[in-house]
Amino acid sequence: MITNMDQKQNIKINCIVCPVGCRISVNNTENVLAISGNKCIKGFDFAKAEIEAPIRAYSTTVRTIFSEHPVLPVKTNKDVPKEKIIDIIRELSGIIITNRIGIGEKVVSNIAGTGCDIIASSNILKEQKYVKAV
Ligand code: SF4
Repeated sequence: MITNMDQKQNIKINCIVCPVGCRISVNNTENVLAISGNKCIKGFDFAKAEIEAPIRAYSTTVRTIFSEHPVLPVKTNKDVPKEKIIDIIRELSGIIITNRIGIGEKVVSNIAGTGCDIIASSNILKEQKYVKAV
């Protein structure tokens, strides 16, 4: 099913799968997609997904109770539907980390009903601070 292209016949997409960054053309003629400009099959798959149901990995920070590290970097454990990212931001705005969790530990399950979890992407809360005595 083609949804995002209903209003447009031709669109250009920058492939973000690898650093080459191919500029991909997608043409929709009578609900048949013609994809060109991609240097590999991953770009084809990316462009098709961008038209039909775009997904993204999402990274951000959430607040903590720890004064030395007031925010903790976190990310989704899988790609999530792009249309859900605003809902994810809203849900995370109410989260405050109270435990010294580390990389890969779960912060929120099933964020915004996506079936994906938010996990810590840093060990900063577990790092010890050594203060040199003078
Ligand atoms: S189409 Fe292939 S080579 Fe081009 S940016 Fe995408 S993944 Fe990289």
